[in-house]
Amino acid sequence: MAKKQFKTESKKLLDMMINSIYTHKEIFLRELLSNASDAIDKLYYRSLTDGDVGLSKESFEIKLSADKDSRTIVIEDNGIGMTRDELENNLGTIAKSGSFDFKNDNEKKEDVDIIGQFGVGFYSAFMVSDSISVVSRAYGSEQAYEWKSSGIDGYTVTEAHKDSCGTVITLHVKEDAENENYSEFLDKYRIRALVKKYSDYLRYPIKMDMEKSVPVEGKEGEYETVVETQTLNSMIPIWKKQPSECTDEEYEGFYREKFFDYESPLKIIHSKFEGLTSSDVLLFIPKHAPFDYYTKDFEKGLQLYSSGVLIMDKCADLLPDYFSFVRGVADSADLSLNISRETLQHDAQLKSIAKNIEKKVKNELLKMLENEREKYEEFFKAFGIQLKYGLYSDYGTHKDVLKDLILFISSADKKYVSLKEYVSRMKEEQKTIYYAAGETVDKIDMLPQVEAVKDKGFEILYLTDDVDEFALKMLGKYDDKDFTNVCDGGLDILSDEEKKDLEEENKQYEDMFKCMKEALGDSVNVVRFTKSLKNHPVCLVSEGEVSLGMEKVLEKMPENGAAPVKAQTALEINESHPIAQKLRELYGSDREKLSQYAKILYAQARLIGGMTVDNPTELAGLVCGLIS
Ligand code: ADP
Repeated sequence: MAKKQFKTESKKLLDMMINSIYTHKEIFLRELLSNASDAIDKLYYRSLTDGDVGLSKESFEIKLSADKDSRTIVIEDNGIGMTRDELENNLGTIAKSGSFDFKNDNEKKEDVDIIGQFGVGFYSAFMVSDSISVVSRAYGSEQAYEWKSSGIDGYTVTEAHKDSCGTVITLHVKEDAENENYSEFLDKYRIRALVKKYSDYLRYPIKMDMEKSVPVEGKEGEYETVVETQTLNSMIPIWKKQPSECTDEEYEGFYREKFFDYESPLKIIHSKFEGLTSSDVLLFIPKHAPFDYYTKDFEKGLQLYSSGVLIMDKCADLLPDYFSFVRGVADSADLSLNISRETLQHDAQLKSIAKNIEKKVKNELLKMLENEREKYEEFFKAFGIQLKYGLYSDYGTHKDVLKDLILFISSADKKYVSLKEYVSRMKEEQKTIYYAAGETVDKIDMLPQVEAVKDKGFEILYLTDDVDEFALKMLGKYDDKDFTNVCDGGLDILSDEEKKDLEEENKQYEDMFKCMKEALGDSVNVVRFTKSLKNHPVCLVSEGEVSLGMEKVLEKMPENGAAPVKAQTALEINESHPIAQKLRELYGSDREKLSQYAKILYAQARLIGGMTVDNPTELAGLVCGLIS
């Protein structure tokens, strides 16, 4: 009998399957089982309105068998079946040809991606089979038909015999080749493991006869083999259950097994979203960051299911980067099994699920912050930096999601404080949110300006991560309050009278400062007195947008050819410190010494601020000259 030809596009897909270098050929079973499940779904729904179907829900099933001698795998369902035309149309062509972009069909890598991410339906069976037979009898028809093909050269459809409606697919498994072991798919234990892995949650039982060795009754030490029909899939995924039906133990067991964590999760979020796109999600916040979390090897994402069938192991589009620590699954019946990666990113359903997840995670974290403070701080220690990067990234687009989730150590008790808490306890006369940046809390605590601001009774946020100050700059304001770096020249903690006095004094010694500035060259923009310091003699403050802390962070970044970004600085001298008096004297008596003092004070200010000095040898020489 003359063979019928596949449609052109189908031929390309088929060729891609037959010659596939894809290593996870095992997904063929997932594809065939979900087709079988879909076919049963169709008949089941019909049975709800059509009394003639005559099958109860319990009688729907999928049967699997494998035989090593004949090298065959059989997948049988009692679903809706296919008519002759349907066999031709469904298996002779690709149902959703639009999903595939064949421009790239010469690039094997692209093929691998498509197969890996989405599977490609029925044709994937050709990755492991050299010939396939599909015997099907459509519901309502007396006649069955057999579709047969050994690959690219076409297929035949002939009349066949079958007692009841449904479909029987027989795969003849390829012979093993040099680098390919196809025989493994004939092993029932392997098949059982694959069902567990990919199709555990299909709604209908997947049954297989398994040989089992049992002791012979009355004959000690003797065993016989009996055949037992096992249901391989558990059918109800935990995320599909009602949260009230699930115990913490169940959730934790599921989490550890599925996501290979030795610790229980810090937080379990089980939610059912309704609306245009409905979905079940089960999310976990781990107690600790995975070892590769802060490296570029880390891959974020949730497992994505469509009606219990795994479509993707790590669907990145479901999680924003700042919540990349979330593990879990999302399942929606509204998603198509065969969406391609390109369309996935623009998939409205997926976007809506992602939006729901983002909102839910945010709210759960806020609740945790409010009601389970210790837990939240544990979470923040592990993942807080990720939230702060989130605040900074994309030009601050996500600040409304994140601003209430970040914490800083406070000068008040050296404990974590949120911005909301900080603002709620601001003093009446306090106009701005104070912060100071440095390597560690202890080092920040020793900064001269910190002492001065604390002395006025104001609380200060201690910023110890590189990203912190950039994140706050991006945030701009919180609750209409500005942020002020206590090491900024614009720091305003003086009374009007103090300000007036200071201005006059600086005016009076203008020439002295000019002289000192000359000694320092371009290192500072200006030298002046300050009344903001308490006990410390000097400090360096920044003027303008870039703080000294930011300069330090920017210096560490890889050079990109642009000129380094420098902070504009002022050297401030405590006008009530004995050193101020000394300077005034030297200005009248010894200009040479005044220059040397300027250099030493500048170097000191840098060291106090946690910076290095450019010329330590010169500094050592100057100090030695003074003390010997
Ligand atoms: P998809 O499942 O994405 O539509 P497939 O290539 O896997 O793509 O299958 C093509 C079509 O063949 C299905 O849409 C379905 O109509 C039909 N089909 C496949 N397997 C079966 C089956 N076991 N029973 C009934 N119809 C089936």
